[in-house]
Amino acid sequence: MVTDTHTVALIVAAGKGERAGGDVPKQFQLLGGLPLVEHARRALAGHPRIDRVITVVSEGAAVAGETAIGGATRRESVRNGLEAIGDAARVLIHDAARPIVPAAVVDRLLAALDDAPGAVPVLPVADTLAANGEALGDIVDRSSLARVQTPQAFAFAAILAAHRAWPASEEATDDAQILRRAGYRVATVAGDPLLDKITYPGDLALAEARLGATMRVRTAMGFDVHRLVAGEQLWLGGVLIPHDKGLSGHSDADVALHAITDAVLGTIAAGDIGTHFPPSDPRWRGAESGQFLRHAASLVAAQGGVIDFVDLTIICEAPKVGPWRAPIRDRVAALLGLAPTQISVKATTTERLGFTGRGEGIAAQAVVTVRA
Ligand code: MG
Repeated sequence: MVTDTHTVALIVAAGKGERAGGDVPKQFQLLGGLPLVEHARRALAGHPRIDRVITVVSEGAAVAGETAIGGATRRESVRNGLEAIGDAARVLIHDAARPIVPAAVVDRLLAALDDAPGAVPVLPVADTLAANGEALGDIVDRSSLARVQTPQAFAFAAILAAHRAWPASEEATDDAQILRRAGYRVATVAGDPLLDKITYPGDLALAEARLGATMRVRTAMGFDVHRLVAGEQLWLGGVLIPHDKGLSGHSDADVALHAITDAVLGTIAAGDIGTHFPPSDPRWRGAESGQFLRHAASLVAAQGGVIDFVDLTIICEAPKVGPWRAPIRDRVAALLGLAPTQISVKATTTERLGFTGRGEGIAAQAVVTVRA
């Protein structure tokens, strides 16, 4: 008896996935900086009607969130995952190789479960279908055929019973087949080309382009000023620059890293550097500012964001920034785990006007672009 009203999503990620190429099983290959399985997990976990997500993996695989250990075949892996759920009203079973999961498809599947114990997303077959051997054979009528995708949605009790009744000696293509064999009806809803499976080399590049189209891009800026004084070291963009003065502040006063950190935090509306590292906290006295930037970047990553580009402008009369441009670029890239080509370092004077022109301080501004 179902005592639970919960909807659980089960992601199958225990396969070897060799057809997509590469040394890593395809569900762990990176798409926009994240493993395929993590894209699927975040999409399902983020759906308002899904209460719990369990990823079925091989022993020793490191994935985020709740996991169950898979079996020798896809069918056995799903069975293990279903047994691990315990109790639920509905379950969505999804392949990790389909990283983009439009919320509208999940909505349609769950609505269809009100009238049927199973529901699958399908797409029409657009290409001509024909038998193919040594030479082209007969055309197959495609009007009566459909491409079946995942996630597939089921009444939990029905799919669990159907899996338990399936003969151990036989394999199944998908879970809808297993439910139908048990005598249940499987409804169809409109699928989505975004759900297409990553199968062959080249599919990943296509998914990357599709993902780019579905991603939000956020841009934020940061600005900072520190006073130049005698007797301090000059840290600029994570690089120690020989100069007769240095920047003064509570931390190492790296005005460039502070501006970038504020811009990074801005992309997720997470306040500013002072919110996270208050100057009143003695822990940050003389602190190396690279740790502030790394922390801000980790907050972005935790929200599924990927930093795309950093554009930094340093505003001062002296020292001359030009010779330090490449070392600063490389240091910022290293701190963020980005390529140097994703970091732009610019410098300007203010024509001897204002506090920067008089050499009383250095200002920096940064613009950061993040995809999520
Ligand atoms: Mg500062």
